[in-house]
Amino acid sequence: MIRISNLVKYHGKTRILNGVSLEFSPGQLTAIVGPSGSGKSTLLRCINGLEPFHAGEIAIDETLKLQGTNGSPLPVNSLIEVRHTVGMVFQQFNLFPHYTALQNVMAGPRHALGQSKAAATKAAAELLDRVGLSRFYNAKPGTLSGGQQQRVAIARALAVKPSVMLFDEPTSSLDPAMVAEVVAVMRDLARDGQTMVVVTHDDDLAREAHIVHRMEAGVIVSSGSPE
Ligand code: ADP
Repeated sequence: MIRISNLVKYHGKTRILNGVSLEFSPGQLTAIVGPSGSGKSTLLRCINGLEPFHAGEIAIDETLKLQGTNGSPLPVNSLIEVRHTVGMVFQQFNLFPHYTALQNVMAGPRHALGQSKAAATKAAAELLDRVGLSRFYNAKPGTLSGGQQQRVAIARALAVKPSVMLFDEPTSSLDPAMVAEVVAVMRDLARDGQTMVVVTHDDDLAREAHIVHRMEAGVIVSSGSPE
């Protein structure tokens, strides 16, 4: 489903990704672990078009190909397509603070996909139900716990029906009690066959994965089962 070939990325003169080649299989939860600064976040940001890269290729669903641009911005058409194909969940949730939970989840389908208000509202309510937030449709992010906010963020990322969901340290800013509720939602999605890639320092979360890749200094140094 996603094939990354020889990805090379620089920041200034520093080579951050040093020829990364990886495949993510459909329906699998893949974890990427490794020391801070090894390039894990940068890799995710390249996959969802937040960062251009210098060389190599990222192929998603056989139809979408992102090519190295030597660091120049990615073509707008590719970016639009990537927004419809790849969902992203961040460490710091990044919800719209002035929107309710429902409005946060509806925003993508309304603005990016042009869905009607009625259809987007119905779909958003179903997604909030799915992440266990039926009682919080009208809550603003500031009134929710970190775990609840992250579950809204997961519902929001799911709203465009992405082929793959990327998670960048989704539990790192949560208290231990809240980590469990977010991991439970991710386990549920994995069981339903949602393709997911998670960058994490959390062993409990990595243990949920079908396959774990370890990254060091911009390359994948080992791959295998969580054990
Ligand atoms: P990880 O997710 O494994 O902690 P990152 O991908 O965040 O690693 O960072 C990899 C390296 O790239 C680090 O050395 C970091 O300082 C550097 N880096 C990340 N973003 C930028 C940027 N925008 N400008 C310059 N250097 C960056």
